[in-house]
Amino acid sequence: MTIPLQNSVVYGPIQSRRLGNSLGINVLPTDIKFCLSSCIYCQYGWTDLSAMQKVKLHPATELVKEIEDSFKKIFSTGTIIDSITFSGNGESTLHPEFGTLVREVKRLRNHYFPAIPVSILSDSSRVYLPEVREALEKLDERYMKLDTGDQEMYQKINNPVVKADWNRIVDGLSRLSQVTLQSLFLSEPVDNSSGEALNRWLAALARIHPVGLQIYTVYRDTADPKVKSVTSKRLSEIAHLACQVTDLSTVTAVTDTFLELM
Ligand code: SF4
Repeated sequence: MTIPLQNSVVYGPIQSRRLGNSLGINVLPTDIKFCLSSCIYCQYGWTDLSAMQKVKLHPATELVKEIEDSFKKIFSTGTIIDSITFSGNGESTLHPEFGTLVREVKRLRNHYFPAIPVSILSDSSRVYLPEVREALEKLDERYMKLDTGDQEMYQKINNPVVKADWNRIVDGLSRLSQVTLQSLFLSEPVDNSSGEALNRWLAALARIHPVGLQIYTVYRDTADPKVKSVTSKRLSEIAHLACQVTDLSTVTAVTDTFLELM
């Protein structure tokens, strides 16, 4: 059984190994996953493109009002927050007013939770667009997905529901400053954790020059029930190889249950 969607614009805070006590911002619908990927390991099940096409997203003005009301309430309770993260029910950059939302959430952050970083968990599918990169650059931190080292593996694992060009995504990632990559490894029904598939992913890392890398595997039910995780030992070996092809001295391997979508 996959997990339910977030049912509000602001959710949490949830305790995250990667982001601490994280307040999630979901600018997407609450009744449908809104994403151009349909990863075989997605915890929310498969993406339904035809259902997505019927959805009207809430305008930024409405969302910002709801975000402010929630921030005000959370602030008044004295809850400790470590991060504010665009995440939730899919890919936040699909919102046509994503740039405005970034600006407004940062304004509200400055007022209610100064010094707390505003970040995003993104599937990277739209990072090739200059206007999306411009908005992403305004965030304090960017956690961007890269699970694969070529188009063929990208199709098999991230399974985009519209035509998507892996090379253009990697090019977009390499143009971002200060990017942290997140990569998920699995052993079945396709294996991106060894052999040529892994070598190609390592070559892509070298192209992007990330400032951080978080690697993980599956711990929950997935869209495709045939998906199998890799061992913690394999994750450690991959972390070691990743350090050899980048300037990174450490790689975070997330080795227990994680709570965010990406
Ligand atoms: S795992 Fe993330 S990127 Fe992949 S389909 Fe699910 S929501 Fe989209």
